[in-house]
Parts: sequence; structure tokens; C-alpha cells
Amino acid sequence: MSQLQTDLRGLELTGTPYERGVTHGEAFADEIANNVDLYLDVFEYKGTDEKTVYEQADEFVPLIEDENEEYFQEMQGIAEGSGLDLEDITVLNARYEVMYSAFKQAADEVDEETPDACTAFGVQPEITADGHTYIGQNWDWMPGLETFVMEIKRDEKPDMVSMTEAGIVGGKIGVNEHGIGMTLNGLVTEKDGEHPFRKPYHVRFREVLDAERMDQAIAPLITKDRACSGNVIVGHAEGEMVNLEIAPETSNYLYPEDHLITHANHVEDRTSMSSEFEKLIPDTLCRAPRLKRLLSRHRGEIDDEVLAEALQDHFGRPNSICRHPDEDEPELDRLRTNGSYVIDLSERRMLGTGSPPCETNYEEFSAT
Ligand SMILES: [Zn+2]
Repeated sequence: MSQLQTDLRGLELTGTPYERGVTHGEAFADEIANNVDLYLDVFEYKGTDEKTVYEQADEFVPLIEDENEEYFQEMQGIAEGSGLDLEDITVLNARYEVMYSAFKQAADEVDEETPDACTAFGVQPEITADGHTYIGQNWDWMPGLETFVMEIKRDEKPDMVSMTEAGIVGGKIGVNEHGIGMTLNGLVTEKDGEHPFRKPYHVRFREVLDAERMDQAIAPLITKDRACSGNVIVGHAEGEMVNLEIAPETSNYLYPEDHLITHANHVEDRTSMSSEFEKLIPDTLCRAPRLKRLLSRHRGEIDDEVLAEALQDHFGRPNSICRHPDEDEPELDRLRTNGSYVIDLSERRMLGTGSPPCETNYEEFSAT
């Protein structure tokens, strides 16, 4: 199992959803198998055996097909291309939901849950150097997880670039040809995992970047109840952006203040939901304010370089914005920045890394 990626690869995906899936599966067969093994290891470590995980996956197969037929066909293509079973691919595509519900069953304690930990930002054109709109984030997750950038070219829906974990159709951080983009952070709230079999987050993320307008991009995140919680910034090239804190049955809507918004892994608006993740990773309470301060110093001068430098900040290391594995933690509890992303929505362009940004250079991807 590889522990360090030196850069971030891209893969062009064209044709029907099934054909795109086959291309994805063939190109990243080893990485997909690696990711399945890694998730099964971490589920086992958290107290959920393989049999239970696959029973959950079986429930998600018809649910995903019913929610989004094209998504399901792309999953079938990945299974065909990689030589793995559809259930293996389903474990990955519903891993967010399986993780919450599996841990709920195993422990029924919020501090057993460890979803993606991240620090995200949105910057409106009023305070950028070039008048462009930017969003982005560091994505903090398990070392050894294999990622790449899907470069999707298609006729019926928007072209897009989106970072994904090998084997997952949905992606989670990206931009499409209409200048719509999104970021993702994990949140933990008290009702997570009570109703596991709801439309998976990764299916919703694909639908965000299928959109031509902001309202179409927001709808899939908030219109159906969810199994667990997350935080998504949806932004548009014209400068509009909304930060959605979404729990199983409620959503909060936050907007930039002084043209800047940052968010980490605790709920900022606790009127409609609890916030639990900070009990496990208290550093979340410092990361978002820290990023806001680092960027505020450059009001009017914010560009790729300023953003990339802020994402390499080591205040509180190892549990910093640029996160490094905490050697005092058991191996399967460790997190690190597995990717750093700066998205220029105005130019439909994404800079990304496959490891902590202090250790590698950004690669550039374009949705046009
Ligand atoms: Zn670093």
C-alpha cells in the first residue's frame, strides 16, 4: 500500500456513463483495490466486520440506481474496468454513509466517528487581485488513500474537473464549465447514522457539478434528508457563494462576511443542529479562524500564490491547516492533508496536490 503520492494525476473520461466508468476502472484498478482494502481495514478497526459492511452495501445498490441511473451505470463501468465486484465499488461510493452507520452500530458514541477533516475557503471577487472568484480547501483524510482528478468531457451535461477517490463516481472538490464549483468538509452532528439508507453524499456531489445554475447546484444537497452531516461551499464564477452546513434533517446557510468565508469541521450555526467533531479534533476551532486571518492580511491581493501559501500553514502542527500524521495516534486514526485545492471559478481552473502542499507542487486542471 503506497503511503505517499508525489503528485496528483488526471484522467480524461469521455463517452457514455458506463464507458467513463470502464476507463476509470481500467486506469486505476490497483488504486481502487487499495482503497477498498483500506476502508475495510478502518471499518474493522472501528468495530464493524466485512460481512456487515457488505450487507450495508447491498442495501445501497438499488438505492443508488433509483436515485441516479447514470451514476449507477458509471459504477457498473468501474466494476467492469477494475475487475472488482459491484458491491466493492458500492462500498466506496457509499463509504461516507457506511462509515457513519457502521460506527454508530459499533459504538453508538460520536467520538468513534472520524469523517473527513478539512479547512475550506471562499473568496469573492471584491478582494482578489484579479477580480476572480476563488474557492478551495485542504482535504484531510487517511494517509494511503488514492485520489485523482476526473476530467469529464461530455455532450449532454457540463464538462467538469473533480477530485475523487479512485473508485468513486461522485468526486467532491471541483468546478464545471459553467463556473460552478464545490468544496467538502466533514461535520458530525447528533443524528448522524440513525437512518443510513438515504441518498449518498457522493451521488449528490456529482449532481452539484452537473448543474448549469446555482439553484440546480444547491438543490441536490438540501432537498432530500441525509444519512449524516457535511459542509459544502457551493460557489459561482460571478461571485455568489453559499456555505451549506447540512445535517440529516436540517440545513444552515452561511454567507461570506467582508467577501470572505472559511470553514472547518465544527458547526458554526448551532441553532438547528449540535456539533460534535471538535470533541475529537479540537484543532478545528482554530483552523477556520486562522485561515481567515491569513487571507484577510492580503485583502485586494488574493491570488493563487496567497491561497496556496495560506494552505501550507503549520500553526499547531501536526494538527494544522497543512495537516501531518500525528505519530502519537494509532495508525488507523491518523489524518493528513491528502490534497490541497485552489479553484479559480472565473477561469474554470483547479490547482491540486495529492499530498500535503508543503511537500509537493500543485498541478493544474481545466474544465474548459
Ligand atoms: Zn505541511
